[in-house]
Amino acid sequence: MLGSVFENAPVNEPERQYYFIDHSSALRAEKERKLGHAMTFHVTTFGCQMNARDSEKMTGILTQMGFCESDSETGADIVLFNTCTIRDNANQKFYGHLGSLNGKSTKNSERIVIVCGCMAQESECVKRLEESYGFVNIIFGTHNIYKLAELIYRYLYDGRNITDVWDKPGDIVEDIPSIRKYPFKSGVNIMFGCNNYCTYCIVPYVRGNERSRNADEILRECYHLASDGVKEVMLLGQNVNSYGNSLENDMNFPKLLKEVEKIDGIERIRFMTSHPKDLSDELIQVMKDSKKICRHIHLPLQSGSTRILTAMNRRYTKEQYTDLALKIRREIPQISITTDIIVGFPGETTRDVDDTIDVIKKVHFDGAFTFVYSPRQGTPAAEMEGRHDPEWIRREFDRVLTAVQDESKSMAGRFTGNIESVLVEEINEKDESYLSGRMSNNLMVHFPGEPSFIGKIINVRLLECRGFYYMGEIV
Ligand code: SF4
Repeated sequence: MLGSVFENAPVNEPERQYYFIDHSSALRAEKERKLGHAMTFHVTTFGCQMNARDSEKMTGILTQMGFCESDSETGADIVLFNTCTIRDNANQKFYGHLGSLNGKSTKNSERIVIVCGCMAQESECVKRLEESYGFVNIIFGTHNIYKLAELIYRYLYDGRNITDVWDKPGDIVEDIPSIRKYPFKSGVNIMFGCNNYCTYCIVPYVRGNERSRNADEILRECYHLASDGVKEVMLLGQNVNSYGNSLENDMNFPKLLKEVEKIDGIERIRFMTSHPKDLSDELIQVMKDSKKICRHIHLPLQSGSTRILTAMNRRYTKEQYTDLALKIRREIPQISITTDIIVGFPGETTRDVDDTIDVIKKVHFDGAFTFVYSPRQGTPAAEMEGRHDPEWIRREFDRVLTAVQDESKSMAGRFTGNIESVLVEEINEKDESYLSGRMSNNLMVHFPGEPSFIGKIINVRLLECRGFYYMGEIV
C-alpha cells in the first residue's frame, strides 16, 4: 500500500502534500481505534517570528490531517518541537526539556515525537538526537517543513524513525495550509534565508541563502488575509531591506510596502528585521508617506565599536549606524527604534563597550535586547581569540543594560497624554476587566474594556507610563 500510495503521489508541490493529507486519514483512523481516542498534537515553538510563522503552517497541516490541537504537550499524541539554535544555552535547555519529556510517565506508548527547525539543520544536533534520544521519531530541518504530512504519513505506515534534513533549500512552496494564532494579525514571509554571514551567526548555515518570494504571491496572501479579517500584517525576513535582490524584476522592499499599503482591510503594516547596511532613503520616504506602516523599526546595532563591527562582518561603522538612526528619528519623529546588542564578542575591550554605550545614548533607543555572545560551532567568530571571563562579561553587560534601561525609560514616557490608535489583542493577563493592546510604536497599553473590542483598532488615551508599558482609557 505504501508503495502504491507513493507511486501515485503527484510530483509537484503543494499538490503532493494535499495528497498525503488526504491519504493519512485512514492511517490516523486506524491508530485512533487502537488508542481509543481522537489523536491530538501540541506544537512548541522556540526562537524568532520566522519560526512562529513556520509553526502556524505546521499547525495548519496537522489540523487538516484531522489531528486536534491540545493545550499541553503532556498527553498529546504528536509532540512537535520547532527549535532555534541561535544560542548554545537554548540548545542545552532544549535537550534537558526533551529528556524530561521522555521521563514523564505517559500511558501513550504510540506517541510521536517530532523535532524540526534550526537545530535539526546542524549535523551535531541530529547525531545527538539519533544517538541519545531514540524516542524522537521524526527529525527534519528548515527547508522541508511543508513536507510534514508526507513524513507523518510514512511514519504512521511503517513506524520507523525518519531523519530527513536537506543541506540546501529547495523551491519556495506556496499555498500550504496555515492556522493563525491571532485572527486579526498575521506574519507573512517575504523571503527566506540570509546572505550576510555575520561572523557570530548560525542563521545562513541553517536557513540557507537568501530567496525572495514573488511579490504577486505575497500580495495574494495579503489580500486573502485581509478578506479573512486580518488588520495587521508583519512582513518577515532575516533582512527585509534586501528583499527582491534574488528576483529577476526590479521589485524591492519599499515598492512591496507601497503595494501592501493599497490593500483595503489591511490597516497596519510591520516588518522585521532590517539590516542597517541595506536601509535606503527610499524606505524612509515610503515609511514617512505611509498611513499604514507602523511607527516602529527594529534596527540591530550589535556593537557600537567600528572595530568590533568589522570583526562581526556587519558592514557599517559606528558613525554610519548613528547617522542612519538619527536620520530616521528626524524624518519620522514619532518612531520608536529598538535594537539588538551583543556583549562579550571575542576581542571586545572595555573601550569598545564604551562605544556601544555612546551609540545607545546618542540614538536614545526605545528598547533593546541585550545578549551575551554565544559561540556557535561552524561560525568564524567561534574560532576567534580573545574570549572573556564571566566576571568581565557580567560587569560590561550590566553597564550596557543600565544604559539601555535609562534611555528606554526616559523615551517611553514621552507619549503620556497622547491619544493613540491601538490594536486590541487580548484580555489582560492580570485583571480580566482590562484589555491589552499594541500601539503603532509597538508599546503595550492596558485599559478597562469589554472583550468585544479584541481584534479592533480603537483610540486610547495614555494616562500613565509604567516603564515599558502604559495604562490608559478608551476615548
Ligand atoms: S543579517 Fe547577520 S545576524 Fe541577521 S540573520 Fe543574517 S547573518 Fe544572522
